[in-house]
Amino acid sequence: MSQTSPGPRWVFCEPCGKRRYHDRKDARRKRRVAHAGDGHMSVYPCPVAAGWHIGHTHPDLVAGRWVYPKRSA
Ligand SMILES: [Zn+2]
Repeated sequence: MSQTSPGPRWVFCEPCGKRRYHDRKDARRKRRVAHAGDGHMSVYPCPVAAGWHIGHTHPDLVAGRWVYPKRSA
């Protein structure tokens, strides 16, 4: 096994231009550390791939105009 990166596992999500976390718990933990007291930051599923982002919920997402891809897992 080649577990080289300890801590939160994430990749750079090019379509979204931000970090995409593999695990929702990692994203939530990171949000607590990096955005403590920033109540309006939320963890939400990436609209283009399986993973999670931290940030403001996209208006289209709130309005239900984005359809999530079906997940195989
Ligand atoms: Zn994304």
